[in-house]
Amino acid sequence: MRLFDTLTRADRDLSPLDGATFRFYCCGPTVYGPAHIGNFRTFVLQDVLRRTLETGGLRSLHVRNITDVDDKTIRDSQKAGQSLADFTAGWTAQFHADCERLDCLPPHIEPRAVEHIPQQIAMIEALVAKGHAYVGGDGSVYFKISSFPGYGRLSHLDERELDLGKTQNARANADEYEKDSISDFALWKARRAEDGENFWAAPWGEGRPGWHLECSAMIQEYLGESFDLHSGGVDLVFPHHENEIAQSQCACGGNFAAHWFHITHLLVDGGKMSKSLGNLYTLQDLADRGFSPMEVRYVLLGGHYRKPLNFTLDSLSGAREALSKIARATRQLAARIEGTPRFDAVEFGPFQAAWDSLQNDLNTPGALGGIFTGLREASTLSGEAAAKALAALNRVLRALGLTLPEETTTETIEVPVAIQALADERWQLRLAKNWAKSDELRAALAAQGWLVKDAKDSYSLTPI
Ligand code: AMP
Ligand code: ZN
Repeated sequence: MRLFDTLTRADRDLSPLDGATFRFYCCGPTVYGPAHIGNFRTFVLQDVLRRTLETGGLRSLHVRNITDVDDKTIRDSQKAGQSLADFTAGWTAQFHADCERLDCLPPHIEPRAVEHIPQQIAMIEALVAKGHAYVGGDGSVYFKISSFPGYGRLSHLDERELDLGKTQNARANADEYEKDSISDFALWKARRAEDGENFWAAPWGEGRPGWHLECSAMIQEYLGESFDLHSGGVDLVFPHHENEIAQSQCACGGNFAAHWFHITHLLVDGGKMSKSLGNLYTLQDLADRGFSPMEVRYVLLGGHYRKPLNFTLDSLSGAREALSKIARATRQLAARIEGTPRFDAVEFGPFQAAWDSLQNDLNTPGALGGIFTGLREASTLSGEAAAKALAALNRVLRALGLTLPEETTTETIEVPVAIQALADERWQLRLAKNWAKSDELRAALAAQGWLVKDAKDSYSLTPI
């Protein structure tokens, strides 16, 4: 399989360094609220990468951390009046439940930052001892970026209009900082009154680790100094991943990640998601509008990971139709198999193009297109040929992590896109308790021949 690598800017083959297991790390969620569907674009694509490698016969070791101590988790746990541990435990459980609903495979190892404080302190000690870090006047410890000539290679700082010389004397204590500031960053943050009870003892005084350091320390613990692939959303390229490389290579030597996989952001209605614009959707928000997690997953697979993907509620209705079309054609294919043919499922047959799309830079929209053309091609097959085609299709679906909807009595009814859009609009009005307007749309739907039935979490449409 080939995949674009952010560092070399080239498509490169993926094969395990140790010849046996593909060992990779994904930056996990910061657990201070529910993850949004943008976060899930990244987690779903990472899941498809793993599933594709495994479907192709590779073994994998997937490590993904939980960020349960940083500026945001501390701030919001205090706002909620909860201990940091209780607060983050609740959001971690919610994250796990959402991942399960989306059928994302759980990582093999899921380390939590708070449970790895000694490893983080040891890494800072190594950096101080080697002259890559210093204790600032405020009692915090900073990484000295001028001590690492490789700083900026991943994010191509040399090609950006940033003057490394001019800005490197600045220091950043916040976990996240501006994309255009290059600065020595905090490895250890001295205890402040606003941290409350969240501090640990260290050789430089009480405090807590910086966000960038936690991944470096947990990677060292579970994957060592060189491993196959590192991944996150594009916003993590700078400064987070740049800082991880600096810390890890300076403290431990080694090459760190052999490959960098970054997922471009999901947009909503053409723009950035934000709470204030009211367009930040969680999985639950979409369930409340009647959409299933599989429909969300299908939408997230509908764009290539290197391009922005624009999410709309209409795209979810489209996903519903597409999934039920695939399900119907798959049932018809299964019905044409006679007996229980025996064969080794090694070829992809009509689904070769779908599989090749995944092998070629994880082209998920290409794979979805390939499923439709494959199903058309397979529509003339029967007997053993149909059985082989079905096995191949199931492998592609497994790589994509798609489960097809069961047959329902309403499934054979095609709801026109305009009707679906009107019904969705009505459902949203209803959620907003705008009963008058929602009744108006119910009447409009009835006038066009469609009856709406509301349930607790969703609605159904039936022709009158
Ligand atoms: P966070 O919980 O903020 O640390 O983010 C978890 C993951 O989601 C990281 O890999 C982020 O880069 C990624 N992410 C954040 N926003 C988006 C978005 N709009 N689209 C895709 N990935 C995102
Ligand atoms: Zn990280």
